[in-house]
Amino acid sequence: MEAVKEAVDGVKNLAVSEGQKKGKKDKNKGKEGDTPLELNPLPEYINHRLEIFNKKKAEYDKWVAEQPRENINVTLDNGRMEIGQSWSTSPADVARSISKSLFERTVIARVDGELWDLERPLEKSCRLELLDFEHPEGKKVFWHSSAHILGEAAERRFGCHLCIGPPTEDGFYYEMGMPDDVAVQHADWKPLETIAAKAIKEKQPFERLTLTKDELLEMFKSNKYKQHIIKDKIADGTSTTVYRCGPLIDLCRGPHVPHTGRIKAFQVVKVRCLLILTHQWLTVRRTRRRIFWAMPTTILCSGFTGSLSPTRSCWMSI
Ligand SMILES: [Zn+2]
Repeated sequence: MEAVKEAVDGVKNLAVSEGQKKGKKDKNKGKEGDTPLELNPLPEYINHRLEIFNKKKAEYDKWVAEQPRENINVTLDNGRMEIGQSWSTSPADVARSISKSLFERTVIARVDGELWDLERPLEKSCRLELLDFEHPEGKKVFWHSSAHILGEAAERRFGCHLCIGPPTEDGFYYEMGMPDDVAVQHADWKPLETIAAKAIKEKQPFERLTLTKDELLEMFKSNKYKQHIIKDKIADGTSTTVYRCGPLIDLCRGPHVPHTGRIKAFQVVKVRCLLILTHQWLTVRRTRRRIFWAMPTTILCSGFTGSLSPTRSCWMSI
């Protein structure tokens, strides 16, 4: 229930943010009218990713359209059985066929024990569970989807390079490397929320696509963090998934909520910067994680003057 209360408070905060914006002459200004809300044009790496995604997604959609449509049995938790069609009927279709409210409160599906995007077509007869926000897995998916919105907002505002954006027990964060090693300022919080609110209003679908390791290396060629993850975690000759929402395409196993409009409130409440004292990224990540949990929320290390030429990364969380 605490999470619900926070979400409600977040809505109020979002409303304040919108109200403040109306008083400004130029709605594309982030603060005091002197800083653009977001980069225009967007960084070239965004176009590069989108080009690859659009091409491969068109090929995948064509392939799905060619798959045989056969009747399948979809068995729900309560024993109810629905008839669907392979490669066509999605968990969302099943939920909607039962009731609109069931669909709207369902965050994610589980198909034969595997978490599954609501709009992803079922491939064969299966057992289907529909999980809402009160379910631990539903909560995780909700927070994780929110992290993608934060990642999108950060890329649009800073042109930064994203690292990882996992859910936490009561929210999420996104870790990123900032251009020219600049710190995220408190003055950036509202603009980030404004960009996030735009993404939410657009109801950007979360689109899933499987790509080969080589395709991923090409897609993320400008992002050293993703390069490291791909080379380290994905075996040669294998594939994994990316998810798109708006201009953001992220290396991600998913699953996600159907679209960004499912996130009803979004607020940046903390930004933490810390110094990374090693170039071994996996070691770095463990170090980051420990420091993240150990640090008081108000600590910022932008004043670091040590001699180790560290890299600075930033955390944001709600
Ligand atoms: Zn993700």
